[in-house]
Amino acid sequence: MKEICPAPSTEKIKVMNSSPSIETLDPLFREAGSVRWGCTRTGVISPTDRAIYSHWMASGYYGNMAFVLRNNDVRSNPELLLEGAKTLFCSAFSYKRDTHHPFISDYALGTDYHIALRQALSPVAQYITQNYGGETRICIDTAPLRERYWAEQCGVGRNGLSGRLLVPGVGSAVVLGFILWTGSLPAYSEPLQDDVCLHCKKCIKACPSGALQGDGSVDARRCIAYLTIEHRGELPAPLPGHCAFGCDICQRVCPVGEHLPSPACIMTERQDIMTLDEEALRSMSAGAYKRLTHETALSRAPLKQLLRNLSAIKKSH
Ligand code: SF4
Ligand code: SF4
Repeated sequence: MKEICPAPSTEKIKVMNSSPSIETLDPLFREAGSVRWGCTRTGVISPTDRAIYSHWMASGYYGNMAFVLRNNDVRSNPELLLEGAKTLFCSAFSYKRDTHHPFISDYALGTDYHIALRQALSPVAQYITQNYGGETRICIDTAPLRERYWAEQCGVGRNGLSGRLLVPGVGSAVVLGFILWTGSLPAYSEPLQDDVCLHCKKCIKACPSGALQGDGSVDARRCIAYLTIEHRGELPAPLPGHCAFGCDICQRVCPVGEHLPSPACIMTERQDIMTLDEEALRSMSAGAYKRLTHETALSRAPLKQLLRNLSAIKKSH
């Protein structure tokens, strides 16, 4: 979740040809592993969304994620992430799994999603620049982009009371990848008109720490996913639940897409992570842990922090 600005790399070809249609690009996104994708014109985010974000920040819900206070101009306008960007593609990739780890979130059980999604979207970006010209930039969670806002604009999903993006027929176990492009399309996706969230409040009732505010906002200072991954130093309190890296509780109880089979996950499952237990972690050196978690999302938490989290779970039982 660490943000990087400005662009680390771009695909660039000067000549601009005609524009691709949604129908032309659809097989490419599907081939990449996308469960749903869409596209929209870039521009300044809506005053309503800006007000929601300002309220979230003013409430202090961001905890110690100081990066959310930076790059507000860029966060309000993706054209500042890539000069001349006219189009933004958003693609959702599922990480829903049938088998789970006792204390590691599903999204961290395979290849790091930053790597997997960049690899998946690179051929799409290359196809666009090679055939239609212009310049692209792929953004996977590290750019100051209002991701859920743009995912809604692209018609990929709608935000739910769980504070997560809900993709119709899939649910919220998704990670998002974006491609900015300096070219234009003849037509764009439309935002979904119907709510995807059923307002059943199962997520709010199941959250063991009271992090969900009831209006779709999350108080990160209470959220186990934030505390176990982003919070450095001592934890403010014992950790409720069983999650030592991330938290899937509000997502697993959500009825959206729950009875449908899990779509293929492009973050290939790692057996050495799946079988990791507390005893092995407690006897592991920091170097061995670093090697084990290399190119996985788990590397975001140093060994010391994961052990801190496991101890904090014990204190709450
Ligand atoms: S991720 Fe866990 S702690 Fe955070 S809001 Fe969902 S259920 Fe609550
Ligand atoms: S659990 Fe119910 S209220 Fe919460 S996001 Fe899912 S559908 Fe919406």
